[in-house]
Amino acid sequence: MNNSMIDLIGNTPLIKLKYPSELTGCNIYGKAEFMNPGGSVKDRAALGIIQDAEEKKLIEPGGTVVEGTFGNTGIALTMINNARGYKTIIVMPEAASLEKRDILRNLGAELRIVEVKPYKDPGNYQHISRRLAEELQAKGEGSVIWANQFDNTANYQFHAKTTAKEIYEQLDGKVDGFTCAIGTGGTLGGTSVGLKELNPNIKVACTDPQGATMYRYFKDSVLEVTGDPSETEGIGQARVTKNVEACLIDMAYHITDKEAFELLYKLIKTEGLFLGTSCGVNIAGAIQMAKEMGPGKNIVTILCDDAYKYFSKMFNKDFLKSKNLPIPDWI
Ligand code: PMP
Repeated sequence: MNNSMIDLIGNTPLIKLKYPSELTGCNIYGKAEFMNPGGSVKDRAALGIIQDAEEKKLIEPGGTVVEGTFGNTGIALTMINNARGYKTIIVMPEAASLEKRDILRNLGAELRIVEVKPYKDPGNYQHISRRLAEELQAKGEGSVIWANQFDNTANYQFHAKTTAKEIYEQLDGKVDGFTCAIGTGGTLGGTSVGLKELNPNIKVACTDPQGATMYRYFKDSVLEVTGDPSETEGIGQARVTKNVEACLIDMAYHITDKEAFELLYKLIKTEGLFLGTSCGVNIAGAIQMAKEMGPGKNIVTILCDDAYKYFSKMFNKDFLKSKNLPIPDWI
């Protein structure tokens, strides 16, 4: 018996990915985070952040949670906040998919769509959300928190406590490698910390999309962008957030959008899995890791969300053509 949707967060299944495993001679597994009630891995970060704020008595019933997000964290926060009796204000860059906007509005979040600006610009969505929270706090009308998923370490700590432990138990401790991409760094940071605590020999790789800096950061300790901006969503970081600082990394891979999208379309056919854009990067990274580590290894990655949120990109011929991305032969 579950008392609320919050009880459904986590404990997601692990699924063996047939094509990537056959290709490499390793067992490549995906953690099915799209099965969380909010439909993504961000349910965990959102719950970690809200529970932490409640424990610290920073938020009370009727209070407000403000956050800057590309969508999934906003969806997760709004659902949890609704169940807990908090209001949600979301600041989202206009580059996020239209599907995510619709979900947020229909969940009852107050939504502010802003222009895409780099982090160093005060008009960046993260800064706008912080200032908005500060303004509301200054009014003194009820409790207000800024979730601050990028630098709030409750994010990675929740993954260390849950995601890492679940993966380890699901494979009876037989984990050789783990990899995923970085948005906030919460998933990779927490899972790397949690897994290495259980067994320090487990290798962890950062898999970075094009247009981000984490590949060069972990490879050569320089914050330098590799490649053009990516059309994947929720990943691709340009700075060392507090959650990135937590990451314990042994290897790094760089994946182009072309590779990621090709793999997503292939996996629809080979696995019957209808996965979101960041999964293409993650699974391509797991394949690279399997090739580097050699056959017979058990390698795990994250299936962050599903393709339903990306119809306007993944199955839109004009969009794919304009971005020079592969077009699946059935659309
Ligand atoms: N994939 C998707 C679809 C996401 O929304 C996010 C969250 N930004 C990530 C991957 C990356 O997760 P994290 O923030 O834990 O690095």
